[in-house]
Amino acid sequence: MGGNLAAAIEAEVAQLARRLTDPGERECLRCYLIRMISEFGCDGTHRWTTRWRDLRAPRARGLVQRMQRRGGCCCDCEVIFNVFPDYPETREVLPCAGVSRAGSAVPCDLRSLRRSA
Ligand SMILES: [Zn+2]
Ligand SMILES: [Zn+2]
Repeated sequence: MGGNLAAAIEAEVAQLARRLTDPGERECLRCYLIRMISEFGCDGTHRWTTRWRDLRAPRARGLVQRMQRRGGCCCDCEVIFNVFPDYPETREVLPCAGVSRAGSAVPCDLRSLRRSA
C-alpha cells in the first residue's frame, strides 16, 4: 500500500471517528454520554463530558467540576449513574429527545418522546 493511500485512509478514519463522537446539535449531555459509553466505553476520565462541553457549551468552564460535585467524581459513567440516575430502563440507547437550548446540560425529557411515539 502506498504511503499516500494509507495516509488518506487514516485521515478518513479519523474524520469518521470525529463524526461518530460529535454530540448532536440538540443532544443533551446525558444522552451523549450514554451513547458514547455504550459505543466506546469509559476510559476512567471525563473525556466525553469534556468533549460535549468543548463542542456544545465551550463557555461552561465549570461543567466538569459541577458534575464532579454532583457525584460524577472520577469519570463519565459515574456522571451517568450519579448525576442522571433516572434514565429509563432499556436495553437500547434511546435517541435524545433534544433540549430546547443547544448546549444545555439539563437532560432532555425522554418520557415525552415515548408518549408521542
Ligand atoms: Zn467510568
Ligand atoms: Zn437527551
